[in-house]
Amino acid sequence: MVNLQKNKFYKNNILRISESSINYLKKLIGEKSDVIITTHYNPDGDAIGSSLALYHFLIGHGINVKVLIPNELPSFLQWMPGADQLVIYSENPSLGDALISCADIIFCMDYNTLGRVKLFADQLRAANGTRIIIDHHIQPENEFDLTFSETCVSSTSELLYQILDEAEFSSEITLKMAECFFVGIMTDTGSFSYACNRHETFQIVANLIKTGLDVEKVHKLVYDTYSESRMRLLGHCLSSNMKVLPEYATAYIWLTKEDLENFQYQQGDTEGVVNYALSIQNVAVAALFTERDDRIRVSLRSKGEFNVNEFARAYFNGGGHRNAAGGDVFKSMPDTLNWFESLLPDISHEIHKSLANYKY
Ligand code: 5GP
Ligand code: MN
Repeated sequence: MVNLQKNKFYKNNILRISESSINYLKKLIGEKSDVIITTHYNPDGDAIGSSLALYHFLIGHGINVKVLIPNELPSFLQWMPGADQLVIYSENPSLGDALISCADIIFCMDYNTLGRVKLFADQLRAANGTRIIIDHHIQPENEFDLTFSETCVSSTSELLYQILDEAEFSSEITLKMAECFFVGIMTDTGSFSYACNRHETFQIVANLIKTGLDVEKVHKLVYDTYSESRMRLLGHCLSSNMKVLPEYATAYIWLTKEDLENFQYQQGDTEGVVNYALSIQNVAVAALFTERDDRIRVSLRSKGEFNVNEFARAYFNGGGHRNAAGGDVFKSMPDTLNWFESLLPDISHEIHKSLANYKY
């Protein structure tokens, strides 16, 4: 099996992908293999955007390709080109298993460890196909055959664009692909408000616009399609279920199963909620705790140098990026919140330092 881990380098400060990896990728495409594209549990805009952009690209090359996602996608992504072709594992596990075992190539988009797909992680581990990761999270696990991993990019979608561009496929980018790339970049940068200080990000967007991309249309389809209950759930979070702890520069929001039922929760309805807690002045760490069947799901955000990826890895069986991470707690909601508060005194100094050094 091939192992091309060292496949990127910097030339004049610009990220480049090594020729050997590009050639390897081109060869795979030329072989007309059976391909599946997978992404993480609770897929977000970047997961679906990068997966569908790659899907349209491979379809254009006459490749037999399917996108396999673990569970249903949020309604604000259902309009995306190709979304009707997704295979949803939770709805059809036997089809999913068959696709995994027959695939020659398995793309792993927007996740850095097979565990993140949750429902078919073991099947991916046992698969015979070549596992290719394209991802922008730190510390990818060593369980892939070919690794395209870079954290300086805004999103997996941006990294995929760059790989296709380096492989001289950029002239093949269609409007459908452009919409997919744009959703990934836009959602992973909070509509170009963070993780987008590289000029390349905007150059890529400019290239996408040249294909006919309507930025305003895509933005509206993703962000101006809230259901009434989603909006009211947000109101409930902010007015009744948010605690601010100024002494620790921390704020958190919690949502019990009862809250979710009362507001007719749909997958994706809590997306972005944690950012409201972080947007309070003098808050440097924010958390959202959501009650699920067997666990409390945790979303963490930070301003500045406080590293929530390390925090999530140490205490929440999770991970992510420096300023955005997630994980799980296997306790009741009250115990989880008490435990979270009990961790704060020890990290208070670090959080305050992060806030003090945060320049804006
Ligand atoms: P979110 O809070 O939006 O669910 O996730 C924030 C970031 O953390 C995302 O980039 C996501 O990929 C990462 N993340 C969320 N949950 C987990 C987890 O359980 N494990 C790991 N390794 N990363 C996670
Ligand atoms: Mn991403």
